Amino acid sequence: MANRYRLPPLPSIREIIELYKIRALKKLSQNFLLDANLNKKIVRSAGRLKDGWVCEVGPGPGGITRAILEKNPEELAVIEKDPRFIPGLELLNEASGGKIKIYHGDVLRFNTEEIIPQSKRRAWTEKTPNIHLIGNLPFSVSTPLIVQWLENIATKTGPWKYGRVRMTLTFQKEVMQRMVASVADIQRSRLSIMTQYLCDVRHEFTIPGKAFVPKPDVDVSVVHFVPRIEPLIDVPFKYVEKVVRHIFHYRQKMIKHGVRTLFPPDRPELTEDMFKLADINPSTRSFMLSISDMGRLAMVYQTLCDENPGLFEYYYRDETNAAEWRRKKLPLNL
Ligand code: SAM
Repeated sequence: MANRYRLPPLPSIREIIELYKIRALKKLSQNFLLDANLNKKIVRSAGRLKDGWVCEVGPGPGGITRAILEKNPEELAVIEKDPRFIPGLELLNEASGGKIKIYHGDVLRFNTEEIIPQSKRRAWTEKTPNIHLIGNLPFSVSTPLIVQWLENIATKTGPWKYGRVRMTLTFQKEVMQRMVASVADIQRSRLSIMTQYLCDVRHEFTIPGKAFVPKPDVDVSVVHFVPRIEPLIDVPFKYVEKVVRHIFHYRQKMIKHGVRTLFPPDRPELTEDMFKLADINPSTRSFMLSISDMGRLAMVYQTLCDENPGLFEYYYRDETNAAEWRRKKLPLNL
């Protein structure tokens, strides 16, 4: 079979938009990419798709969808929330000889793992499976989606039951910069640690906002993620997530401010223990912490939670929670 697949002549994406009288909805942050070369470039970033199983999230009028089909995957599933795009996607499905499975739904609530064929599964320690997640979604969806998917990667759930599934997704340029930022970079944030400890993350290229219709106020970056066989932090996700969230709550300040909020005010010694046992200077600033520093802090926090029942549930901003803590004098036994 040829590597490339040629779709029969079809109306252009612009004509599809006109044919179905689709106006971009601002409330869904719809910005369409009509340039076929850029759509192909996004799809090239995903790697070899031939005979693979591909899932495109938010296909809209189908520009990226066409570029994926040209790469000759075995099957392409698309998940689209806006029903106005379904007829155009059905047209494309007919032209492709029935290769597309169209799902009308919200990707944030969709059980993607249920539609992946078992035959494509690979063990986690093997090569990455021929399964690909691709999408140009609104930024209001792509950021919560990646946070949800990172947790799925950490717990090997969702699509990651099938091995180290790769993702190629677009983000607002500033979000990409945070994802790839290394130590001492002013963009270093919660997203840098959470992404990098679980994935090998690569910024592919950035598309100027003016390439989209209508033009968004920001530039758009294409990012490729490959889950790591061994995460760089060997601590359950929930502890890593909480420590990282608290520490980066005060991004410009010394980390002692964020770490302090992990513990009830009547247990200041726990904050001291964190720094002593993790061997970290409390005056360090958040963006100066390496992933291995974060890993040690998360490991110590997990130990403190194991030794102090109820500690993980403690949340400093929750007044009832704090009051409850004081009232019950939960057994903090360090
Ligand atoms: N992929 C197309 C392109 O590049 O031209 C459309 C991009 S547009 C920025 C985002 C698309 O995602 C729209 O078609 C929108 O309806 C769809 N979408 C938005 N939220 C979604 C969600 N929660 N689940 C699935 N699709 C969604």
